[in-house]
Amino acid sequence: MTLSQQYLSTRSSGEPYLSFEATVLRGLAPGGGLFIPAAIPTAPADFLTNWQDLSFQELAFEIFSLYISQSEISSEELKQLIARSYSTFRDESVTPLTVLDEQRKLYLLELFHGPTYAFKDVALQFVGNLFEFFLQRKNAGKTAANDDRDRLTVVGATSGDTGSAAIYGLRNKKDVSIFILHPLDKVSPIQELQMTTVTDANVHNFAVRGNFDDCQDIVKTLFDDVAFNQKHHLGAVNSINWARILAQITYYFYSYFSLLRKTGGSRDIAVRYVVPTGNFGDILAGFYAKRMGLPVDKLIVATNANDILDRFWKSGVYEKKAPGSDVEAVKETLSPAMDILISSNFERLLWYLAREQLSSSNEEAGQYIQKWMVELKSTGKVTVPQKVLDSGLKEFASECVTDEQTVETIKETYDLTSGYILDPHTSVGVTASLRHVDGKHTYVALSTAHPAKFADAVNLALTCKDDYSFDNVLPDAFKALKALPKKVTVIERPDTELVKAAIEKELNDEGIAF
Ligand SMILES: *Cc1c(COP(=O)(O)O)cnc(C)c1O
Repeated sequence: MTLSQQYLSTRSSGEPYLSFEATVLRGLAPGGGLFIPAAIPTAPADFLTNWQDLSFQELAFEIFSLYISQSEISSEELKQLIARSYSTFRDESVTPLTVLDEQRKLYLLELFHGPTYAFKDVALQFVGNLFEFFLQRKNAGKTAANDDRDRLTVVGATSGDTGSAAIYGLRNKKDVSIFILHPLDKVSPIQELQMTTVTDANVHNFAVRGNFDDCQDIVKTLFDDVAFNQKHHLGAVNSINWARILAQITYYFYSYFSLLRKTGGSRDIAVRYVVPTGNFGDILAGFYAKRMGLPVDKLIVATNANDILDRFWKSGVYEKKAPGSDVEAVKETLSPAMDILISSNFERLLWYLAREQLSSSNEEAGQYIQKWMVELKSTGKVTVPQKVLDSGLKEFASECVTDEQTVETIKETYDLTSGYILDPHTSVGVTASLRHVDGKHTYVALSTAHPAKFADAVNLALTCKDDYSFDNVLPDAFKALKALPKKVTVIERPDTELVKAAIEKELNDEGIAF
């Protein structure tokens, strides 16, 4: 097993290292740290030649193999997991690259061709299959009715996007039940339909009379409830799970090779990836790709008005509260999947910066992270040494984009391309790209959702156009959702005990003994 196939926590020395399986099944490290590989592997010396014509699935296999030992998942099994995970995508190349503006060297990497039309599918389709794979192996030889079967009860809160991608990732998986809490009547109608029309026995939608924070608080309380957790083996699928980051590395490599094909094969192009960012998971995968050897010139973080990361890259201060504001509160924007106060995955990048700039061992880097995260929690703010910021700025840049600019770019892109419609998250990234285009670099903006998922922003931008009708934007699959039966349980009060009782009732209905 190589170091890159073993895992440590950002907040400890990490030894003994964990296996990939333990890392994926645990999700979060004890003490609140996040798992990272004990070393970042380098792609083989000849990868620019040998990987250039691989399919998305073949590339995923090469990349995942560097992070997962064959003693844990054999090559044959890994290939099958990958094949199954991406067979649900509508586009043959899984994540196709589109030209947005050839003259300005601006491209779009479309990540929304999975079952829920959002980029989270790329990771969650794989995570669902991984969970099932590990559980089936643990349960081999046990009988179907045997109550010592290993099981996972995945519980999560969603304001929209993650919920449906997680449900589609885990639907119908053996020995896994999934409970997704959303605030009743407070998610978009499409997102509500996407979740509640999945009627598989192991999928449970809870519509909580309350807001998103209520849902999130309940989920946190459940995870802290040792007895309940032990009884039901709670699992998480939020973006801190290492397998999600890993799965996202593939499309950076794949799009680089697609770009070479589109631009005639010359390798001296300087590529910059621009990523609409919330929890920093998507762009972090780009960082791993870059460190593995992919020739990426820069990674550009694009935030909406929730700009903690943009402020960090401009000051070295990571602070929940914006200057001049006296409340720590998330702002509601037209790109809701990026409405966050703190980007959880940013901790992983900070670990690398601390390790390289400040420490001589993993243990010491872990101590820095521990100290910073405690400080962030208690004071709402942490300032990193200048050299940490400076070294980060060699690889990263950032932009913050307002709702007005988001709408404006949807409009402009529609005109410029005769009708291509950006979703608002993608528009944040494209707006950031347009601020940088310089003729020298090639920009790949990541397109994270299909426009039909975010009708408000798209209508705001395009209703003025004569030839525009939202009905044409809607995929047939979305139109069909309305007619489907729904499965949802209303939780009348945001009360943890009510949720616990409802979980046990529905597990009972599933026929699960506990
Ligand atoms: C989750 C999400 C993002 C943000 O990605 P992170 O990995 O959290 O930075 C951006 N756009 C859409 C549509 C999303 O669903």
